[in-house]
Amino acid sequence: MKKLTVLILILALLITPSGYVFAQNDNNTNNQLKNINWDERHTLEFHDNLLKDLAKEYPKIAKTYPIGHTWRERKINAIELTSNVKNEKNKTGIAVIGNIHGNEQESAESASYTAWWLATNYAADKKVKNILDNYIVYIIPVMNPDGYAQSLIYPIRENLRPTDRNGNNIVFSDPYTDTDGDGVIADIYVGAKDSAIKDRKKIGMESPDWDKNGVFGDDPKQSNIDLNRTFDYLWNYLDVDTKPALGGNAYTRAGSNPATEPEVKAVQNFLLTKKIHALASLHTGIQCVLTPWCNTPEKPVDANFMEKVALDMTNALQNTTGRKFYTKQSYDDYPTSAEMIDWTYGRLGIHSYTIEVYRGGKSNPNGPIEDQCAWGNELPADQWIYKGDWNGIKDVWFRKTSRAQMVGVAPPEQSKMVEGAKDAILVMIQSEPYGQGSKAPDYLFWGNGW
Ligand SMILES: [Zn+2]
Repeated sequence: MKKLTVLILILALLITPSGYVFAQNDNNTNNQLKNINWDERHTLEFHDNLLKDLAKEYPKIAKTYPIGHTWRERKINAIELTSNVKNEKNKTGIAVIGNIHGNEQESAESASYTAWWLATNYAADKKVKNILDNYIVYIIPVMNPDGYAQSLIYPIRENLRPTDRNGNNIVFSDPYTDTDGDGVIADIYVGAKDSAIKDRKKIGMESPDWDKNGVFGDDPKQSNIDLNRTFDYLWNYLDVDTKPALGGNAYTRAGSNPATEPEVKAVQNFLLTKKIHALASLHTGIQCVLTPWCNTPEKPVDANFMEKVALDMTNALQNTTGRKFYTKQSYDDYPTSAEMIDWTYGRLGIHSYTIEVYRGGKSNPNGPIEDQCAWGNELPADQWIYKGDWNGIKDVWFRKTSRAQMVGVAPPEQSKMVEGAKDAILVMIQSEPYGQGSKAPDYLFWGNGW
């Protein structure tokens, strides 16, 4: 009995409340950090915990803090990486922001990987030591955490501003739901069993019709607001409603006013308080590095410099990933206004780049440039499943789109993709300082000082 009591006491002393054995606590965090599998699709919690663990494991070079929160009270977390070798005011500021678009999850993986790589290599790699001794690198892997988390259920670009699409005065009152438990949200169509695809008519999305208005899934969890059209710079300057040819910027997608969304406000306010020389906004959809402006074909003052850096970044992406990438002025990809990089360059003079890290599917060597440059993976085909009578409706089809089937699935060789993004970001870092770095605009000054 006595021996057992002593044993229990020793065990109680060894085990911390978190379940780790005390003596190995540091090693556990360290081993977990070293053994991250970058070929997986990670949850939002993974990205948040990674930043916390890096700050815990490398307190001399890493700090983690929230810069704001979302409509759903999720924190928008940043990590600040730098050593204390030099005074902050003599350092060059770099910002990397991932996942402004919820479903572009490889952009978050790329940003998190870059933070992880810098922190874990500082002690052993002279090049990394040199970077963190001379630069402050601010990384926000997930700018749109609500969109990221929602996109593990159904791929959405936007944030989760409470929205009432079906006009019944209740927000999100008919969200899409995986009613048949197959892990994929389907679009719902009607059409005879022997009908051609083009003759089937879309009537809604998979849902039990929570609001009982006869339309399935007509008040889904998505706001229709594109955060990358909502920055406070030439907001809604190009409007699809009046200039259809320009595209991509309808009033609804730009929000109701400049910087209405908490995610955009958080990033703007954060960048206004830091001296930043260069910024990368990470995306997916094409394999490309884009430069300002987004709103006009005119060249910005620093066009030559930024275009040269973008080309060097493209080369880094190609060499590391073994895939083709290209470079363009953002306007020539397609015109938009109130994008992040127009705000950061136009308002603050930050050298700004959009890095698009991934285009899914096989490349087409004879197609337009965006089709020539693709990741080269096989994407699942759209599936059509005839359901017959379903919820009192005749001849129902479930369409499982390729995109919806890919929810939660990382592309093959994602670890190469994030390595390529990191190498492009290193090129951007090493291209600075160039000029004085960002400056808060005049209208923020009162009298002689702040
Ligand atoms: Zn995007």
